[in-house]
Amino acid sequence: MRFSRPKQPWFVVVLLLLAGVARAEVRHPIHFPDLPDHKTLACDLHMHTMFSDGQVWPPVRVAEAWRQGLDAIAIADHIEYQPHKDDVPTKLGRSYELALDGAKTANVLLIRAAEITRDTPPGHFNALFLDDVKPLATEDFVDAVGAANKQGAFVFWNHHGWKGEEKGRWLDVHTTLYEKKWLHGMEVCNGDSYYPGAHQWCLDKNLTMLGNTDIHEPDLRKQSAPGDHRTMTLVFAKDRTPEALKEALFAGRTAVWFNNQIIGRPEWLAPLLDRCLRVAAPHLRSKDALWVEIENVCDVEIQLDRVGNVGPARLALPAGTISLVKIDTPTPSEPLELAYTAANFLIAPGKGMPVTLRIAGETKPK
Ligand SMILES: [Zn+2]
Ligand SMILES: [Zn+2]
Repeated sequence: MRFSRPKQPWFVVVLLLLAGVARAEVRHPIHFPDLPDHKTLACDLHMHTMFSDGQVWPPVRVAEAWRQGLDAIAIADHIEYQPHKDDVPTKLGRSYELALDGAKTANVLLIRAAEITRDTPPGHFNALFLDDVKPLATEDFVDAVGAANKQGAFVFWNHHGWKGEEKGRWLDVHTTLYEKKWLHGMEVCNGDSYYPGAHQWCLDKNLTMLGNTDIHEPDLRKQSAPGDHRTMTLVFAKDRTPEALKEALFAGRTAVWFNNQIIGRPEWLAPLLDRCLRVAAPHLRSKDALWVEIENVCDVEIQLDRVGNVGPARLALPAGTISLVKIDTPTPSEPLELAYTAANFLIAPGKGMPVTLRIAGETKPK
């Protein structure tokens, strides 16, 4: 059928009005600064669709991620667990194909992935950057992980403690994978859960730390807000490409954003925190105090506990705000170094990141 030109001018007017009234969906950016040599990519690398036990059709995952400001996602449908198969036949890798066009349009990086699913122990493992999911559908667990590695995949152990620490313990089979260099990371956080055991293993065994949603239902959040955000992995990549993301994951350049905490290695948390905090030059000095503005440009409230002698005992700097801080000191003209611990930037279980706030001295007019 050919489209005939509308005969009535009012028809055009109504169309234009409709176009004007319809409010397009918007993207809400996530605020974590880039590091000096790396871009900070917000990633959720574990989610499900109707092609395993999820409740949504694959392109919905892209729309959610775009709306909430994510850079990259991986749909990791279970290979072996297919509870919807009477309605949605088993088609390994199909969720990626269905989501890809939308991801390209939305400029969201979509990583082809799958979840290798066994009883716990040994548990569930995600494989990212696959060329083809089908060769992973094999009976033996180690063979399945091997098939992923044959494709150059990045493999991580999911939600290790979800059935308790005892069932999530490290077994010989995990050592086998580890020694073959077939296991590259662990979820330190999955959804609402934090696993200190996985956190410590990542430190001890030099595994990459990840945090993901493992979401099955639709994500109805409009945006990632400081007090209401999905658990995600911040990846410090040389570029905003799948190749650079993969390189960064293998190199362990990540941090996890979980429940108003940032979890990661000190070598990445230090530059991140440094970029999140902006300490202005003091704008007022008295005989025994100075006043300074401290800005927190990121989406986490930064909680600082004093470890030195100077400065307020506790500073809570809300996300995306400037705090006015009075510092009592007998030498307000001199430069100061204030020693704190960022209590919610975890460099080990229960251990915050040390940070020094540097206050400029007074510059005398010449
Ligand atoms: Zn799982
Ligand atoms: Zn899962």
